[in-house]
Amino acid sequence: MNRPLYSIRMQASRNGHHLSGAERLSTAIELEPLAADMVQRALGHMRGRAETIQISIEEVAEGQIDYVALPDLRTYLVDNYGQGRQAAAGLLCQAGVSPLAIDTAMAAMASGAAPDGRSMRGAMLIDAVSGRRLEPDQARGVRVSRMDLTEQARQELALGLQSLGLDNAHVREALVLAGKVLTTPGIVAELCWSDDPDYTAGYVASAHQGYVRFPHLKPLGEERGGRAFFLAAGQHKLPELINYLQYRPLLFDRIGQLNRPQPWVVQS
Ligand code: AMP
Repeated sequence: MNRPLYSIRMQASRNGHHLSGAERLSTAIELEPLAADMVQRALGHMRGRAETIQISIEEVAEGQIDYVALPDLRTYLVDNYGQGRQAAAGLLCQAGVSPLAIDTAMAAMASGAAPDGRSMRGAMLIDAVSGRRLEPDQARGVRVSRMDLTEQARQELALGLQSLGLDNAHVREALVLAGKVLTTPGIVAELCWSDDPDYTAGYVASAHQGYVRFPHLKPLGEERGGRAFFLAAGQHKLPELINYLQYRPLLFDRIGQLNRPQPWVVQS
């Protein structure tokens, strides 16, 4: 990629509530079209037109960028969101997350994880054993940014996802976000389902399984969604962890395995 790189972030709100956000790393020449895309996204959001749109652009210091590989992608086919959540809970358990912590995350995401019962702007931080919520601001959560694909990895990913019928912004962006989360020291797993009412898919990410999608983790039409990052129990270095998620620039220059969907087999 040409240098320097810039972090470009968009945050849109309506009636004082978070509506949409996006974060990319970009060369100078790509900044304008990216900003235009982000404005379009905020104005054309399915949950309403943005009233306030903030775009911020900051140069990223050259020597700080780390180059890493994306996690592998798997899809397990489930019949409905109840089965999807059970399957997701099974994978989280295998990653060392306790049933209590899983219940905390799923209950918060299903009922709106922010104090006003809406979706948060960012992610919850949850102790993987006690289930205690640790993010300093429960309305905002922690917003991961400064991660992206190199141009070549972007093209390879698009081709690979096309062959699986999965080349859409939801999957591309979530895979990159989960990829950064999985490189974060102290995080053992992530759970996500979208707050877009017509997008029912979600995923669990963990070091062992990579990025595992389920086509159904919530009912169609549901506007509440969220993300939970599960932190290894014990000493939490919260300031360092939050600083890494928000500020450490990461470029994915290799894609992982992109596996064909397979039916979820109920574990006994
Ligand atoms: P989305 O997958 O964009 O529909 O987002 C689903 C939920 O994930 C949102 O309601 C936020 O709570 C959270 N979220 C979205 N983007 C980020 C991000 N960059 N960092 C942390 N959490 C996020």
